[in-house]
Amino acid sequence: MIESNHIEIVVVGSLNMDLVVRSPHLPVPGETILGNSFATYEGGKGFNQAIAARRAGGQVAFVGKVGRDDFGDRLEEALKQEGILRQFVTRGENSTGIANVWVGEDGANKIIVVPGTNNEVTPKEIEAASELLSSAGVLLLQLEIPIATCTKAAQLVRRGGGRVLLTAAPVPIEPLPVELFEAVSLLMVNENEALQMAALLGMPIFKEGEEIEAGRSILTQVGSSLEAIVITLGSKGALWISSERVEHSEGFKVKAVDTTAAGDTFTGALAVGLQRGLPVPELLRFANAAGAISVTRKGAYPSIPYEAEIDRLHCLLN
Ligand code: ADP
Repeated sequence: MIESNHIEIVVVGSLNMDLVVRSPHLPVPGETILGNSFATYEGGKGFNQAIAARRAGGQVAFVGKVGRDDFGDRLEEALKQEGILRQFVTRGENSTGIANVWVGEDGANKIIVVPGTNNEVTPKEIEAASELLSSAGVLLLQLEIPIATCTKAAQLVRRGGGRVLLTAAPVPIEPLPVELFEAVSLLMVNENEALQMAALLGMPIFKEGEEIEAGRSILTQVGSSLEAIVITLGSKGALWISSERVEHSEGFKVKAVDTTAAGDTFTGALAVGLQRGLPVPELLRFANAAGAISVTRKGAYPSIPYEAEIDRLHCLLN
């Protein structure tokens, strides 16, 4: 039995079922084709980050919503199996969120996401979990649930002295509210998202390779409430950009077979590293090790590594 007073990391986020169809090519409008395979996987950025933090050794709780349907049952069961506190995962009116993914043999894909109950995670759900959030060490947020909900959760955690990690994905269409930014400790983005976030904040357009400049200008624009921006660079590792320093941690050399959920794996592990009190270079290395292992395996959820594996790779070259 997981006790809520032992929780270090809280994820407030999305729970989806990924419905993956593989076919020789992607059909055009009006065309019907025979596919190669169909499979369902538990997912959603919130789910992936929660699994990553738990497997990396954290005590994790989830705040979210699923439907009164089989997909909801499966997601709840997966959280239970992993040992994640799911007392604040409730059932909504809509169906469970899904991502309908079509993949052609050439790797091209088309995806439709139907948020379903993820849109029903409202500030009310945050009030119900306020005690848990006020004592959390780290809050993991992404942008697949309503922004007002993210803002309220972030404010509660920050006021309680915890750190708020916001993954700015999917990149919003409009700038994020100031109140949310003011409550964020670490902004987590990949290379593309860093450039898009800078553009969204009305900054000059940065090009590929100018992530440090983009990160620095986001930091200046957002203000001193932000501790740092963490930019993941795929095989090149990750950057920590704060007003005092820019730290680059090289990626691990591995054979990548599927990079799905690498960023979420990195972020979940980073949350655990923060709880362990790792200094920045070690912290990035630990998260890079988790991300690197995940890309050597197929899929999202199944590819997320465990603490012992991460530690092994992390310590290898020390
Ligand atoms: P996202 O999945 O959000 O696009 P990235 O592609 O930047 O994020 O990957 C996140 C992290 O996963 C990287 O910072 C790195 O630690 C690890 N990673 C991703 N791709 C590779 C790779 N080819 N080799 C080694 N590590 C990788």
